[in-house]
Amino acid sequence: AYPDWKAGASIPYAALVATFSLIESTTKRLEKVSHTSLFLRQVLRLTPDELLLVIHLMINRIAADYEGIELGIGESLLMKAICESCGRTLATLKEEHKQIGDLGEIAQKSRNTQTTLFPPKPLTVRSVHTGLRDIALVKGDGGQGRKVDGIKKMLSAAKGDEAKFLVRGLEGKLRLGLADRTVIVGLSQAVIVHEAEKAGKKAPSLEQMIAAEAMLKEVYSELPNYEIIIPEIMKVGIMNLKDACKLQPGVPLKPMLAKPTKSIAEITDRFEGKRFTCEYKYDGERVQIHYVAPNSSVEFPTIDQKKGIAKVFSRNSEELSPKYPDILAALDKWVTDGVESFVLDCEAVAWDRVEKRVLPFQQLQTRKRKDVAAEDVKVKVCVYGFDLLFLNGKSTVQDSLADRRKMMYTSFKSVEGEFAFATAIDGQEVEIIQAFLEESCKASCEGLMVKMLDTPDSYYQPSKRSRNWLKLKKDYLDGVGDSLDLVVIGAYHGKGKRTSVYGSFLLACYNPATQNYETICNIGTGFSEEVLIKFHTQLLEFEIEKPKPYYVHATGNMQQPDVWFEPKVVWEVKTADLSLSPKYMAAKGLADVEGKGRGVSLRFPRFIRERDDKKPDDATSAQQVAEMYQNQDVVKNNAKKGVDDNFEY
Ligand code: ATP
Repeated sequence: AYPDWKAGASIPYAALVATFSLIESTTKRLEKVSHTSLFLRQVLRLTPDELLLVIHLMINRIAADYEGIELGIGESLLMKAICESCGRTLATLKEEHKQIGDLGEIAQKSRNTQTTLFPPKPLTVRSVHTGLRDIALVKGDGGQGRKVDGIKKMLSAAKGDEAKFLVRGLEGKLRLGLADRTVIVGLSQAVIVHEAEKAGKKAPSLEQMIAAEAMLKEVYSELPNYEIIIPEIMKVGIMNLKDACKLQPGVPLKPMLAKPTKSIAEITDRFEGKRFTCEYKYDGERVQIHYVAPNSSVEFPTIDQKKGIAKVFSRNSEELSPKYPDILAALDKWVTDGVESFVLDCEAVAWDRVEKRVLPFQQLQTRKRKDVAAEDVKVKVCVYGFDLLFLNGKSTVQDSLADRRKMMYTSFKSVEGEFAFATAIDGQEVEIIQAFLEESCKASCEGLMVKMLDTPDSYYQPSKRSRNWLKLKKDYLDGVGDSLDLVVIGAYHGKGKRTSVYGSFLLACYNPATQNYETICNIGTGFSEEVLIKFHTQLLEFEIEKPKPYYVHATGNMQQPDVWFEPKVVWEVKTADLSLSPKYMAAKGLADVEGKGRGVSLRFPRFIRERDDKKPDDATSAQQVAEMYQNQDVVKNNAKKGVDDNFEY
């Protein structure tokens, strides 16, 4: 169907866009997978060199997360570019935006259909990838103008549906309902089928397909970097990937996460007959430290052997080295002889030099994020190590926690006020755990982390919220339950004293399956006047005229917020309990077993703090909200017998 797409030729963007339209047109996950994999097979047959570019465009990222190159152009800038490229006025465009809501569709409708004397060359996957990258990389003076020019250039060459997906991509959300994991499945299927075809073998069996999928998922979780994985797939084949692509210092992996528990009894039930450990849950910022000594004896293909590597990454794989030069400067003192490379999972906590103790999280938040010189650091941190993921050239994620810890204890040494091992006990009795929990709180910690110690159940599971790690916070015991991290998507103007600021806000959770934000509560409690002024200034910049099409919120005669925002800001919020409500849409279809279409809402939500270490997509998920709702005693007791173990819902 694409005469220009010959073997070896650059892939027409139109071909990818046709697949996007197919993926968008179905809500069934399996159909999405099949459209994805069919297209990728075609890529493998005709233009395998561009497989990486195609994958980037499918997940709408142009580089690995930790490179910090992000799309997500603001609405006003995009509108400006659309106006200029189509010769429309901003007023008419805004009017239309009020009715349609989707800038992508508007861009497509407004395309200049006049034929020009020298029509621009058709877009290709390569040209779009380069275009997006260039736009994302623009910085500095006159940056806005250059971004607009770049967008205009691409839009002028867009045909058919291309403008729609270009604009959505620039906005940061393709809205195909294509989760990253779905792309992994589609890719694994395409590759395994293609490999069989190429070798003249019969089509792979279901078992082979499943094995390929498991392989790619595992490899990607240890080494989330398509720039390394894709070339290796081509070189060694998908079933040999595991040996070729292992965790490497320099490539941050998504951390393992914990499930919440509400009582010590729940913990002892879960781990009955198993050995487990309890550690303090420090209240700071999660950091992953990557290190390779200069001239290390093990060779790393992607690292400059002479220089080695020393980097700090955040919970969501952003590089934090500029924020923590003091950590990097001190690393040498913490390792024992013979340690040449490691990846350490830890919590950086604010430290009181005088009292020699841990400080609350708020102190850490006052630390500058960039351009800090080690000697100018005001808020000192102490790093608490709790896991070791890589040591001396080898990944350790598939060793038991007991073994990983032993390796950590022998490879590092504590240095007062700089580095320590997370305080831990391996006791099993309820009374001991209870006492340890209280101690942890006295030591300014949030509570405990409880972890499986032996067997494959204790392996490090990157990116997974696992029941092999449980968190127990002190407030859970009061029956309040875990806090939620929610995205601010709207606000109401204040009343009385608060008229110059927003007085309350509309919050949403994130549904990774649909890639939508679903409303969960209005919140107006827990804010000081000072904080409200700060949030007003911060959020003003993100105001948009209409809710994004991927905001799921109650309409009809529901009161709508006065203003809407781009999804940028994440807050931690506590609640008295969760209930079903027709006014909110969180976890709709997941929690309401009576099928009345109600969502989950928070009762008496209270603002706790900003979570600038989380991106909007890292907010509490719809699935977690459903679990939290269902785990409430009232709901549990009302549920029919036989569904009491809804832990792994
Ligand atoms: P929270 O908001 O409770 O920190 P989260 O979603 O960031 O939750 P969870 O998996 O729920 O992450 O809780 C684990 C977090 O607790 C880790 O991300 C880490 O930052 C912190 N932490 C502190 N001490 C430990 C420890 N000993 N082991 C693991 N994580 C710890």
